[in-house]
Amino acid sequence: MKIKAITIKDNEKYLRQVSVNVNLNDKNLKNDINVLAEFCKENRVMAMAAVQLGIPKRLVYIKNTNLDIINKMQKNEATAKEENYNEARVLINPVIIERYGLTEYWEACASCMNFMGHVKRPYKILVEYFDIDGVKHIETFEKFESTVLSHEMDHLDGILHMDIADEVLEMSEEERKLFRQSHPYNIISKVGKYQDLLQNNFEKKLKK
Ligand SMILES: [Zn+2]
Repeated sequence: MKIKAITIKDNEKYLRQVSVNVNLNDKNLKNDINVLAEFCKENRVMAMAAVQLGIPKRLVYIKNTNLDIINKMQKNEATAKEENYNEARVLINPVIIERYGLTEYWEACASCMNFMGHVKRPYKILVEYFDIDGVKHIETFEKFESTVLSHEMDHLDGILHMDIADEVLEMSEEERKLFRQSHPYNIISKVGKYQDLLQNNFEKKLKK
């Protein structure tokens, strides 16, 4: 059976729920991860949160945070091998401990139809999570990884990119590819506290 992502069109309320913590002894955990892995293998996504596939547990699958490959895909220049690139990482019960720096990117989402949002995310996040063997990690995710992971972790709290975007546009996948070539991922600051930078950036915009 082909797995489909739940969208805001078919069930926004479902996507708005807060996902529950994963019990590491959960007998369905392997199966849940397989559903995520299968979907990500079959679809052109960067990552997925389990709730988007009907599993409201705090589980994130990361497929592609490689900006070089993503940029090639936007230009339709990716090789078959690059098209199938898969980091295949699973983060269980991830929690962001610290956020640093500021970046901007026009994000899309498998659950949000063709709505693209201009979102400011931290450049670097410190994340605590468990792996599939139940081992706890504290790891730094930088640059584009931080953008992708922040987006997915918002899903676990029922937050969509459109909610926090300062601008939203509707574009087809083909239009989006072209648009992103002229509006790429951009680093505003690598250092400083994310919340302060976000506030300063907002105030600067108001003064303009
Ligand atoms: Zn999403």
